[in-house]
Amino acid sequence: MARYRGSVCRLCRRSGEKLYLKGEKCFTSKCPFERRPYPPGQHGLTRKSSKMSIYGQQLREKQKVKWMYGMLESQFKRFFRMAERMPGDTGENFLSLLERRLDNVVFRAGFAKSRRQARQIVRHGHVKVNGHKVDIPSYIVKPGDVVEIAEHFKNNRELQEAVALKRTPPAWLDVDSSSFVARVVRAPQRSDITHPINERLIVEFYSR
Ligand code: SF4
Repeated sequence: MARYRGSVCRLCRRSGEKLYLKGEKCFTSKCPFERRPYPPGQHGLTRKSSKMSIYGQQLREKQKVKWMYGMLESQFKRFFRMAERMPGDTGENFLSLLERRLDNVVFRAGFAKSRRQARQIVRHGHVKVNGHKVDIPSYIVKPGDVVEIAEHFKNNRELQEAVALKRTPPAWLDVDSSSFVARVVRAPQRSDITHPINERLIVEFYSR
């Protein structure tokens, strides 16, 4: 599956907010958004002050969440259509599905510094689900699943550094950092997602 290969810091500046796509760097003064919190490009500063249409707001929110989870449009839309077919609130179902992606679970469990790094760990076959290797970042976990780092990868320096950050995992994951195991105790709920997201705008965007 293809992925965005350009500068991820540009995506934060384009979104108008920090999306925390780079791991540790996002929390330091080296973060480009701290110095240039306006859209990239020659007319970035001018564009910042212009008023945005409703469509523009919907598009920007959709793009922001897509970039946060490191997805391309076709797959992002496929997840949305999946959420539409589920009972309940489409926006909440959509966010829950995104959270249940395997690369996101590896990131949320604290086994990677960013979703991008988590995706690479999964893609390279270093992750098991219920004892079996799964190398598909978009694999959707379900309650009861056990996600673990493969034995051969446990001494990896990047993994050790990520775990050393001691990030607090969400309540829907039961994480044992010493053995690199995360159990999905329940489906993620809307209240588990702390990053400001207006999913209503995304629903409106795809319902046009
Ligand atoms: Fe965004 Fe992180 Fe880059 Fe800052 S360092 S612009 S938060 S990806």
